[in-house]
Amino acid sequence: MGKKKLLLHSCCGPCSTAVIERLLEDGGYSVSVFYCNPNITDPEEYAHRKSEQIRFLEELAKLGPEVSFIDADYDPERFLAAVKGLEEEPEGGARCSVCFEMRMRRTAQYAADHGFDCFDTTLTVSPYKNYDVISSIGRRISEETGVEYLSGNYKKKDGYRRSVELSRKYGLYRQHFCGCAFSLRDAQRKAAGSAGTGAPEDRNAPAALTSPEVLA
Ligand code: SF4
Repeated sequence: MGKKKLLLHSCCGPCSTAVIERLLEDGGYSVSVFYCNPNITDPEEYAHRKSEQIRFLEELAKLGPEVSFIDADYDPERFLAAVKGLEEEPEGGARCSVCFEMRMRRTAQYAADHGFDCFDTTLTVSPYKNYDVISSIGRRISEETGVEYLSGNYKKKDGYRRSVELSRKYGLYRQHFCGCAFSLRDAQRKAAGSAGTGAPEDRNAPAALTSPEVLA
């Protein structure tokens, strides 16, 4: 039996590293990355994260595995309209569920329109994101679109730690906030309040690597 054609939503290069590695090791998938992130603060940040994603795939291709890249284009107005009224939600709250759904729905629709067998997302590798919430959104979208959802929990088997290792290995830009202007605002507030250093939180620091969700 041939490999399944998988459309993998990617939030960023660093998170994609360990997820792609695991999917390629599985051997059952032909993987295409769908870069769909209308949530990102501004065009420069979007372009920077996108170029790092592409650079990782190019580095990977030098070692053998070919993973194609599809850009869903930057469309921030849709994101801002969808999360209107949820600006003060904390990371992990209602705004994030809307954000997950927007990106995953677009991925599943693209998969349905372009002959992919299944879809999934790199979002579940992050200790800052709740697997059950993401999985339930993915399953609902799958029922609606008819495209299989893999529902991978990429935090398992030390996935996040591996993503940090691989991003360091490839020298990838590792952002200190999730992506939207509200998460940047919150990161800046946190930095301003942390020991007066003004230093941004390191989302890849040991505390994050050992948070309960990573270990779950
Ligand atoms: S914090 Fe992250 S997941 Fe939540 S709305 Fe902002 S970009 Fe989306």
